[in-house]
Amino acid sequence: MKTKTLLIRYDEIGLKGRNRRHFENQLVSNIRYALRDLKNIKIFKIHGRILGRVDLTDAEKCTSRLTQIPGIASISIGNSMEPDFDKIAQLGISLIQSKLQVFGKLKFCVRTRRSNKSFPFTSKEFDFEVGSRIMEALSSNGLSVDINGADFVLEVEIGPQETIVFDNRVSGLKGLPVGSSGQVLSLLSGGIDSPVSTFKLMTRGCRVHSMFFDNRTFLGRGGYDKVVRLAHTLNRFQGGGKLYVISFQDIQVAIRDHCTDSNRVVLYRRMMYRIAHALAELKNYQGLVTGESVGQVASQTLKNLMAVSCVVPMSILRPLIGMNKQEIIMHAKQIGTYDISIEPQLDCCSVFMPDHPGTSCKIKYLEADERLYPWEELMSSALDSMETINLDDLD
Ligand code: ATP
Ligand code: MG
Repeated sequence: MKTKTLLIRYDEIGLKGRNRRHFENQLVSNIRYALRDLKNIKIFKIHGRILGRVDLTDAEKCTSRLTQIPGIASISIGNSMEPDFDKIAQLGISLIQSKLQVFGKLKFCVRTRRSNKSFPFTSKEFDFEVGSRIMEALSSNGLSVDINGADFVLEVEIGPQETIVFDNRVSGLKGLPVGSSGQVLSLLSGGIDSPVSTFKLMTRGCRVHSMFFDNRTFLGRGGYDKVVRLAHTLNRFQGGGKLYVISFQDIQVAIRDHCTDSNRVVLYRRMMYRIAHALAELKNYQGLVTGESVGQVASQTLKNLMAVSCVVPMSILRPLIGMNKQEIIMHAKQIGTYDISIEPQLDCCSVFMPDHPGTSCKIKYLEADERLYPWEELMSSALDSMETINLDDLD
């Protein structure tokens, strides 16, 4: 079976100084996990790169999976070869010939990167030697050299251990490898925003678990099914995630029956934060993630965001805080959550919605409302009846 070499370039790890090895090892282990079902595959580190040795027939499949893993800048499928001008030129000729048959004419160049400094030729000399051999063979067939405007670039990386030749690059998700920054808990509704905020933290190296507040009594099972699908879709970018489902109806009914109408949504949100925080403490998760963005709705004014954050002594991570809806929608489409999010299904915040939700709820009045219903008791029974779903089990 013919093998191919995957050349995997990573993103910000290069900036990590002394922690670099930790980040590289995390990325290698995430890649192995993503490709664990493929046979005859070897993933290993060489200086500044990660390489994969795979069967030719699996190479495309590997690349498309690697484009879903945070921390990778780009991937190329190539051939490991001796750093020999004639052999590399020969490979270039056969690749270019098939393109010339389609396009008739082609501008090309050779681009060499040499990290093996003991190699006796400079990158420029290597470009020239290989490029002139290719030109000799194909210039009469419509091939010309154009360093800045090439239609076809033959790339060569000459490293200390091996030389890799390739003609393709696919972009990765970039960011940091999941697991390199710790674990966080995301408040995941069925809306458009929170799946995007969940994804954003994954690309900052966090393993993101999710919590959904479900009001099945009043809204039916549809919201739950939708959030399970969203969480499962998002877990493909990381693996190892959990979804926690909290029954929220008793808390919402108590707030509706005992508290000031205009404070309701902020009171719901304070309870969500408290419950999420209690679980995060228990599991040693280091922050809460939400899809809030300043001014998007009444509960997301600066004053109300403060009135919510102040109930928990924990970082509240809001990656969408300065984004507008169109940008968020664009991201949701890119990560494949948009079509699920727009399925019609009400979120629990929309039941018992007051006619005039407050945009500037005062903490002392919110606290006064909270003295009117047994929130601590309701919170602990909600946590006692919590459902936990291991998202990998749904694969
Ligand atoms: P989204 O599209 O994420 O639902 P939104 O614009 O509808 O956001 P809100 O409904 O005000 O905004 O919710 C703000 C944030 O609160 C959400 O992004 C999410 O993080 C959290 N949240 C709201 N409802 C729920 C829920 N039922 N379960 C879990 N988290 C929720
Ligand atoms: Mg919502």
